[in-house]
Amino acid sequence: MTISWYRPAAVTQQPRRVAVLSVHTSPLEQPGTGDAGGMNVYIAQTAQEMARRGVEVEVFTRATASDQPPVVELAPGVLVRHVPAGPFEPLSRSELPAQLCAFTNGVLRTEAFHEPGYYDLIHSHYWLSGQVGWLARNRWGVPLVHTAHTLAKVKNAALAEGDTPEPRTRVIGEQQVVDEADQLIVNTGVEADQLVELYGADPRAVRTVSPGVDLERFRPGSQDEARDRLGLSRDAVVLAFAGRIQPLKAPDVLLRAAAELVRTRPELRSRLVVLVAGGPSGSGLDQPESLKALAVSLGIDDLTRFLPPQAGDGLVTVYRAADVVAVPSHNESFGLVALEAQACGTPVVAASVGGLPVAVDHGVSGLLVGSHRAPEWAEALAEAALRRRGELADGAVRHARRFSWQRTTDALLGSYADARGAFRRAALEVAV
Ligand code: UDP
Repeated sequence: MTISWYRPAAVTQQPRRVAVLSVHTSPLEQPGTGDAGGMNVYIAQTAQEMARRGVEVEVFTRATASDQPPVVELAPGVLVRHVPAGPFEPLSRSELPAQLCAFTNGVLRTEAFHEPGYYDLIHSHYWLSGQVGWLARNRWGVPLVHTAHTLAKVKNAALAEGDTPEPRTRVIGEQQVVDEADQLIVNTGVEADQLVELYGADPRAVRTVSPGVDLERFRPGSQDEARDRLGLSRDAVVLAFAGRIQPLKAPDVLLRAAAELVRTRPELRSRLVVLVAGGPSGSGLDQPESLKALAVSLGIDDLTRFLPPQAGDGLVTVYRAADVVAVPSHNESFGLVALEAQACGTPVVAASVGGLPVAVDHGVSGLLVGSHRAPEWAEALAEAALRRRGELADGAVRHARRFSWQRTTDALLGSYADARGAFRRAALEVAV
């Protein structure tokens, strides 16, 4: 007996071309606001690394404006394909499931213009893309590798007070993808356990691949210069947050801790600055001004500076200017901001949740805090920014250097090879 989609093509170690699915957000978008964050950076960085190794990457994302060209070259060997699916405008994640059929149609149509076997493997990111990948996998007869990035069951177990839970439809959709994907990529061992325990994933299908950091862009540099650029005093005590502004990311914890710091150490008031870089996202879009309102109600609006999402050197400047970068998230599958800040020589104070204990080496490159309570955060921020800054800054650079997108890509290509080998063996077993 043979299965209809089995193609006994020669399987080399390295795929020639990978179809990357990123339905809800594009690697061309500016991260740090809306739906664009670490996943966009992850896709853009690993795609470019793969292309440097001779693996072509085509990223499929939903077209959100009528003037977007159908295909954009992100870098040599990396194409971004804008797939029309629904209105040419941004859609919320809750509206996207209704467009998955149209999106899948666009992906299949693109492949149909080429000779059979055009894509060797599909890598889907986030569950919406996993749904598309599931169908394309069966149609093309190639393995589906999936990265969830976040999991609804994990998010719902760690919601900020008053935050909106992820819908049941997402939980069901994620489960289907876990059941159908040939391989599941996770950022840390904690996430691997979550997939196995909460979604019944087959542990043999789960691969842990650490995300990376661009060590050429995120490097230590002059704090004074960075502060001059931002118009901050050189002797200020600067606490920074960078990322999407939404309850799950908990920038409010930093503001509350800053208020606690000036209450318990009034001598700091004239020097303390809280920098917040990023824009509203997710359930944070319901009340985009709420963080500013919180700063006012805490009486620290005069110490708080809000910056729009930073591109290029802008973000490096924020990290370098800061004495400490805070990552107070209620849940975080990894936390690229933590790695980037450390690579710039800035210690990180992070919540001890999800992947952050991997991203931050407690006591060496920063500090982990076991709660979201302001007094504990104030204490940890003071320790990292005032008492142990120099020592933690050295540890931060050393820790960040353990990660790179080159290593991430090596591991991804290894996992692709495994997935292709296993897929081929399974097809051969069915064929005999
Ligand atoms: N980021 C950015 N500009 C900003 C704030 C954040 O480019 O002003 C990027 C940052 O470099 C990081 C990403 O957004 O790579 C956020 O990733 P992270 O894993 O920290 O959080 P996520 O968005 O995935 O929840």
